[in-house]
Amino acid sequence: MHSEDVPEPTTVHVDGVWRAATAGTTREVIDPADATVLAVVAEGSAEDADDAVRAARRAFDAGPWPRTPVAERAALLRRTADLLQRDREEIARTESRDTGKTLEEGRVDVDDVTAAFRYFADLVTNESGGRVVDAGDPDVHSVVVHEPVGVCAMITPWNYPLLQASWKIAPALAAGNTFVVKPSELTPLSTVRLLELLDEAGLPAGVGNLVTGAGDPVGARLAEHPDVDLVSFTGGLASGVKVAQAAAPSVKKVALELGGKNPNVVFADACATEHGFDTAVDQALNAAFIHSGQVCSAGARLIVEEPVRDRFVAELARRASLIRLGRGTEKGVECGPLVSRQQLEKTEAYVAAALADGATLRCGGARPEPSEVRPEGGYFYLPTVLDHCHGEMSVVREETFGPILTVETFHTEDEAVALANDTEYGLAGAVFSADTARARRVAARLRHGTVWINDFHPYLPQAEWGGFGKSGVGRELGPAGLAEYRETKHVYENLRPAPVRWFGG
Ligand code: NAD
Repeated sequence: MHSEDVPEPTTVHVDGVWRAATAGTTREVIDPADATVLAVVAEGSAEDADDAVRAARRAFDAGPWPRTPVAERAALLRRTADLLQRDREEIARTESRDTGKTLEEGRVDVDDVTAAFRYFADLVTNESGGRVVDAGDPDVHSVVVHEPVGVCAMITPWNYPLLQASWKIAPALAAGNTFVVKPSELTPLSTVRLLELLDEAGLPAGVGNLVTGAGDPVGARLAEHPDVDLVSFTGGLASGVKVAQAAAPSVKKVALELGGKNPNVVFADACATEHGFDTAVDQALNAAFIHSGQVCSAGARLIVEEPVRDRFVAELARRASLIRLGRGTEKGVECGPLVSRQQLEKTEAYVAAALADGATLRCGGARPEPSEVRPEGGYFYLPTVLDHCHGEMSVVREETFGPILTVETFHTEDEAVALANDTEYGLAGAVFSADTARARRVAARLRHGTVWINDFHPYLPQAEWGGFGKSGVGRELGPAGLAEYRETKHVYENLRPAPVRWFGG
């Protein structure tokens, strides 16, 4: 069964041509809200990956893109941004159906992606040429310039398919690279649509290529391919390690955006007023349960000051149990399903292990009753709050990527910082306090790539995103997000060449 508006299984895009997988193989894309088939796409192979790299290599080495004036490259990014806005509703719907997220979240994603395309267009437009270096010699002209890296492979996850692809594609194109993107096999549809829009915006054939298919072989082949100059990966820690290992023999540049186990530290003083309490509870709810917790920066660890714990957790659990589950495209739905049966079962296993280890269930902890959620057959799980958790539990240490919030408590500022930093990850974290000096002091001590004070989740295209520790290598967005896609070259010019006579003969 296919729904309306789905692409044919000709989702491999090589050298400007849409085609089926070389072997003719296909994959069904499942709607997580009811487990029916949403679309059928091409299941690419290593051979398809090789074809795509060949096209990208040719387009880079011989093609005009790396030498296209910056103003023209920026204009293409801006046209793409306009097309994304033109088709905003359709793309948001596709993303919602494919990932399970709500339609409103899908719209926010399209707007954020549009902003990223415009940001990188502006960034390259406003740059001055190279950086002149004073060589200390009037007869030397020394300048440092930036050039595109070459062929970039991009491997993306299922939770933010359009967003993660765009955070790579926009800066890569702005810098003059060519690319091959491989979206998650679970959620390829919005990336297919994005490549169509890039075509429509006028991207030359071969500059942007797409292979739909599995992590292994397609992603693995891209990571190891000797003609790929850079691999940018967003996904889980285990796959990220494999990508880095596959990339090592060819010494390509590697950028990794991996998981997180993100602390949300709430001081009692944040809850001293009714408004403060309401704000901190509301933000803790957003932090943990947006997109059913399937967010790399989800605030899955609540670390709350002991005296306010009972009141805070009671209100949080009350509100979490009111979250309306259902198909993301339906009006009034606040949380969609998990992306797959596997993700649902993983969530159940983490909750069972936590309860066996002594955690207290404050709400959720089960699939909803069939009568409680429509449609039937989807991968739904109730928003779950687990109290009395500690750092030895797998649910606290590992990224569950489900709608699970764990609660730990502290008595002192030092204890709060120690708990918040007690993770192998380091993607994001937040501190809620009415005491500005304390909030900033704690923020400065958190070993995480993004720290929010009295807020959770916002990010800006002009500010870098990425992780400390095992949350990754490199940064996306901001000037550093552009620098990832560039090589730096020093050009030293001798204006009065003469023999050096280092050797006497
Ligand atoms: P995943 O690691 O299972 O898959 C990510 C991508 O890698 C997919 O396209 C997959 O096909 C591919 N892949 C799998 N094995 C591979 C291999 N051996 N070689 C090459 N490619 C391979 O991750 P997921 O489950 O799709 O996504 C969830 C993860 O992504 C979470 O850990 C989440 O935290 C992380 N994530 C991080 C960020 C960030 O900005 N740091 C953003 C979004 C998601």
